[in-house]
Amino acid sequence: MAQLETMRCDILVCGAGPAGSCAARAAAQAGAKVLVLERRQTIGVPVRCAEYIPAQLAGQIPVPVSTYAVQKTASMRAYLHGACIQDLAAPGYIVRRDALDQALAEAARTEGAHILTEHVLLGLDNEHTARVALPDGRKARVQAEVIIGADGPLSRVAAFADKGQRALLPALQLRLPLKEPLDHTRVYFDEDLCAGYAWLFPRGNMANVGLGCVNRKDQASLYRKLGHVVDQLCSEGLIERPAQGAKPRLTGGWIPVEERPCVQGSILLAGDAAGHTHPITGAGIAQAVLAGSMAGRWAAQAAGQGSLENLQGYAEEWQDFYGDVLAHARRRRLAWEAHAGPLDTVIRSFWIGNREYYAA
Ligand SMILES: Cc1cc2nc3c(=O)[nH]c(=O)nc-3n(C[C@H](O)[C@H](O)[C@H](O)COP(=O)(O)OP(=O)(O)OC[C@H]3O[C@@H](n4cnc5c(N)ncnc54)[C@H](O)[C@@H]3O)c2cc1C
Repeated sequence: MAQLETMRCDILVCGAGPAGSCAARAAAQAGAKVLVLERRQTIGVPVRCAEYIPAQLAGQIPVPVSTYAVQKTASMRAYLHGACIQDLAAPGYIVRRDALDQALAEAARTEGAHILTEHVLLGLDNEHTARVALPDGRKARVQAEVIIGADGPLSRVAAFADKGQRALLPALQLRLPLKEPLDHTRVYFDEDLCAGYAWLFPRGNMANVGLGCVNRKDQASLYRKLGHVVDQLCSEGLIERPAQGAKPRLTGGWIPVEERPCVQGSILLAGDAAGHTHPITGAGIAQAVLAGSMAGRWAAQAAGQGSLENLQGYAEEWQDFYGDVLAHARRRRLAWEAHAGPLDTVIRSFWIGNREYYAA
């Protein structure tokens, strides 16, 4: 690799999702020279998300979330075996996730971060050097004081920094037409959706319908389960059955349900790369924004002062801010995964918003 082009910056951010863009914005705002590598051609595309953001967290996002909202929702209803078991006041927004991600990237650019799309991180040679595939097929190196891994659930930065395997949950989602607009989100539990749930999140006259759960069988079993959910929602008259031959938009992805250490020497991890997603709900947009912003601030400060040992401050701040919530949710998830019987008597201790969940 000796003759490869080498780019240099203070902070290298891998990934331009919410975590990466917010890390880049915060670091650039603090005066660092920031380079962001993003493998996608268009930031935020394709969308792999149910696009729900709780209103109470929207204020933490450094762009006006309501501008990117398709609609508002007032509550979240939970169903077990077809019966509503909880109607939780949970005001929130269903956003155009691609537009939101693009706005966050633009906010980083405005602060001076340099974002390169179609640049794929191949791996790290060491804590300060990344290997990159350029759009024209050539390869290059990037050297940085601090590298921030914000490259999502299958993070290559995390694979270098933290060798341990961390638990991921598979998720699948379809976009389908709603029969009537809804003002609330719905989640569905069932013993068949092992330690997970299905969702119906309204999006104007459409809905994001998906599921995420432990899949002990083959990939096909997840598709079958999604088929059952769609059949059920059609028979309840909530969604339109897709026309014969129509190909509804199908997406999928991985949801991290186990946290990683977010500081490893001069490497920081944020968002899904660090497993900052909530292990019960799978929500991770707001966490990615918050952790990314924190990581960017600590990275710029440490690089500017030449005191990389201070990076540990990021782990401590994150732990103080959200560590207990994540640790509790992780324990609840492990209990849910170990539970083999009917859910009727235990679901309230596995799902947020119930007294039993926080007491357990
Ligand atoms: C089906 C599904 C539904 C979800 N619904 C919700 C929801 O309703 N609400 C919610 O809050 N959360 C939801 N989540 C979780 C949420 O999408 C994530 O927590 C959030 O996207 C995390 O942001 P991030 O920036 O850490 O990672 P990402 O958004 O995954 O961004 C990572 C970025 O890194 C880039 N990248 C990856 N590898 C490389 C590489 N090698 N080189 C260069 N770039 C790279 C990717 O292209 C991507 O742009 C859902 C997840 C799934 C799978």
